[in-house]
Amino acid sequence: MTGLFSLNYGLERFTATTKRVTMKREIGRLLNPALKNIATYKVEGGQHAEIKLNQNESPFDVPMWLKEEIIGEFIKEPWNRYPDILPYRGMQAYADFLGISPDSVMMSNGSNEMLYTIFLACLGPGRKVLVPDPSFSLYEKIALLLQSRIVRVPMRPNLDFDTEAILQTAHDEDVDVIVISTPNNPTSKSLTFDDVRLIAESSDAIVLVDEAYIEFSRQRSILELIDELPNLVVLRTMSKALALAGIRIGFAIANPLLMAELAKPKIPFASSRLAEITLIQVLANYSLVTDAVLYILHERDKLFNELLSIEGVEPFSSDTNFLIIRVSDAEAVFQSLRHEGILVRNVSGYHLMENCLRFNIGLIEENRRIIEKLRSL
Ligand SMILES: *Cc1c(COP(=O)(O)O)cnc(C)c1O
Repeated sequence: MTGLFSLNYGLERFTATTKRVTMKREIGRLLNPALKNIATYKVEGGQHAEIKLNQNESPFDVPMWLKEEIIGEFIKEPWNRYPDILPYRGMQAYADFLGISPDSVMMSNGSNEMLYTIFLACLGPGRKVLVPDPSFSLYEKIALLLQSRIVRVPMRPNLDFDTEAILQTAHDEDVDVIVISTPNNPTSKSLTFDDVRLIAESSDAIVLVDEAYIEFSRQRSILELIDELPNLVVLRTMSKALALAGIRIGFAIANPLLMAELAKPKIPFASSRLAEITLIQVLANYSLVTDAVLYILHERDKLFNELLSIEGVEPFSSDTNFLIIRVSDAEAVFQSLRHEGILVRNVSGYHLMENCLRFNIGLIEENRRIIEKLRSL
């Protein structure tokens, strides 16, 4: 039974080499050849823990009074009717919030969905995308799916961006797209505003700047240059600082001419009525966000200093809502923390990040617990 049914069992489970080879060839013929280079997305350690610090979420849920307000509005919506093809209400609200034209803004079902849309618009067989390494793994996954070439530019050993190498490689390789997460996941480091500008100015490529963590950054957003730089696209998410990871809201911002093209592959009706209402309400109560960000920045600095004092733990200075530490045996520390109900992310597999762990800032008590545990190890 090497037919389609075997798909359910996952290729890994076939141990007999010959059988595996036959299987792969048969199934491979039916599917996108790029799939053989792509792994199923997994979150190591799962998504549940007493102290969950592994997905860079906000530790603060939306308060109950605001959830009730949102639900009260959502109830009045016609659930049997499609939402708008594109979520114009949400896009208008975010454009107003940013003080820009709604033509420059596109809303998506999480920024991951927007990444797919933008890459579909920009990539394809034979096209080239420059990605600093390490960076957000989804970039490479989508590029591989679209059978594009990935040009990796390593970070410096201290995990800082290597701007000169990015500029040089973009030029030498004549890339079509440059995608930069700044501040970057998983390194927690940023490019300066001037370096982002320099990269976008120096290249003819589409420069996609993923600002998922911009609210926590010491650098200001590159958004203000959207009208000046016709090749610049900024990506935003409501999953981190805005504490809406469960509702799925992302945005792209670009000049209207480029945006009209980028939006062509977009899945119609991808944002729900609930997402639009939630966004509008949270933006109207934005002091909740600024208060949470102030708390996180304060705790981040406090934790960083505490980590410095723990022997065998080397923290990296962070520009995000998470911290990277290097330990002597990341897997052992990961498991010890897990045993205590503390879930972090083992990012040791990334280039230059051997024996590194990543964890986001949590509630005061959660932060105290992780420090205490790290100290005891
Ligand atoms: C968390 C994160 C996102 C957010 O993705 P959503 O689909 O909006 O939840 C985007 N980019 C990076 C680099 C991230 O770390």
